[in-house]
Amino acid sequence: MNKFDVAIIGGGILGTSISYWISALYDLKICVIEKESDVAMHASSRNTGVVHSPFYLNPTTKKILAKSALISYDMWENLAMKRSIPWKKTGVLELALDEDQHKSLEDYMKWGIENGLSEQDLELLTDDEVSKKERNVKCHSAIYCKKEVSTDFGAFTREIKNESEKNGTKFLFGNKANLIEEKKDNSIIILDNKSEISSKLVINCAGGNSLDVAKQFGLAKQYSDLHFRGEYWVADSKYSDLVKTTIYTVAEFKGYPFLDPHWIKKADGTSEIGPNAVPIPSPDTYSGYIGNLSTSISKLKEIVTGNAIKLLSDPEFLSLLSKEWLSSISKTAMIHRVQKFIPKIRPEYFSKRGTAGIRTPLITPEGRFLPDVLELANSSSFHIINYNSPGATGAPAYSAFVVKKIQDEGLLDFTKKVKRSIWNFDDVLNQA
Ligand SMILES: Cc1cc2nc3c(=O)[nH]c(=O)nc-3n(C[C@H](O)[C@H](O)[C@H](O)COP(=O)(O)OP(=O)(O)OC[C@H]3O[C@@H](n4cnc5c(N)ncnc54)[C@H](O)[C@@H]3O)c2cc1C
Repeated sequence: MNKFDVAIIGGGILGTSISYWISALYDLKICVIEKESDVAMHASSRNTGVVHSPFYLNPTTKKILAKSALISYDMWENLAMKRSIPWKKTGVLELALDEDQHKSLEDYMKWGIENGLSEQDLELLTDDEVSKKERNVKCHSAIYCKKEVSTDFGAFTREIKNESEKNGTKFLFGNKANLIEEKKDNSIIILDNKSEISSKLVINCAGGNSLDVAKQFGLAKQYSDLHFRGEYWVADSKYSDLVKTTIYTVAEFKGYPFLDPHWIKKADGTSEIGPNAVPIPSPDTYSGYIGNLSTSISKLKEIVTGNAIKLLSDPEFLSLLSKEWLSSISKTAMIHRVQKFIPKIRPEYFSKRGTAGIRTPLITPEGRFLPDVLELANSSSFHIINYNSPGATGAPAYSAFVVKKIQDEGLLDFTKKVKRSIWNFDDVLNQA
């Protein structure tokens, strides 16, 4: 049996970054168990690719994500410059389409400052000022934030994996952690090929499967989850400069963790619209559905349990789903949503689908979406669940905070041996 001090389940941007920090601080036997053939094959590559500035995140309910995003910006920028990873400063316009949404923008201006952005980073613009900047955009008002960047989070994750490997981490690709048995001094992880790994500490970063993994440790039993596919359409090259800035709008359904489809300037110069949020049965369903919306919902009700069923019976949520569903089966329906703020856009400008990604939000016992990350620990394991957008942006700082918490829990009780590396652990913690 292979024996490790630390086994991390999941080689997305989060698990890979945590492996990097632990390997940079200690000389330990560390492995990352990843079911795919490389790091970042799921959400960590299949996302919008935007390094977000946290002005739109409520500092009370999304404190961890906001702080992590703020601190990580410079860390990503430095790494991008050193390793030639795409870093395209697109800026973002966050639009209000009416007076009610404008009130949200006023909140965002305050939240941005509370979250640590400077006043120079954010400008509140009238519709005329927006038209001068982007003549094809129509709105009531907008926030312009210049500190918004398009990048390739998959490339970042592969770079961090290389750093972690240099420090001795073993990446065990093509291995799915199927069953976990907790013993007195270690855990036994049984892989899908029936081989076993023993580890003193297990860190669960399994993304769309992280709730299932936590439940194997007897944790998070009161929570449920649902999986949503986010789909995109790519603008044909002659229309990709119709708008030169990335455009988001204030979300129509505020209580839910989905943003309405936006116009994204990608790091490679292309432009896309998306994502929507289509309910699907598993974190790997990248294409297809289960029938139409109503059969899909009743199938989902058979698959999911507890709190998720409550949510699937909420009329407001069902109204959101029907809109998202329609924009999945009909390109025209997705374009209609974007035409509200880019009236010139036409379905025939988009002939190719982009890369879809899957989000797995957590549902509380009251049948509501949990807004921030959920961290749970016991004597031999640490779990990160509900690590959703802007999780890729915040990964370098957030993973350092997690390692500090694991230390504070007494789960990393080993002698330190700090190595020179791309980022400095204490610098990150001092900014928190
Ligand atoms: C459509 C979409 C758009 C987004 N846009 C942005 C954006 O613009 N900016 C931003 O900052 N964030 C964005 N996000 C959020 C961001 O991508 C995620 O927060 C982040 O990638 C989560 O990283 P992760 O490592 O936790 O999960 P993942 O990348 O999903 O990694 C989890 C890994 O665990 C592996 N795994 C699961 N179960 C097991 C098992 N049992 N055994 C072994 N391996 C296992 C999986 O194969 C996977 O590789 C977006 C997400 C989506 C889906």
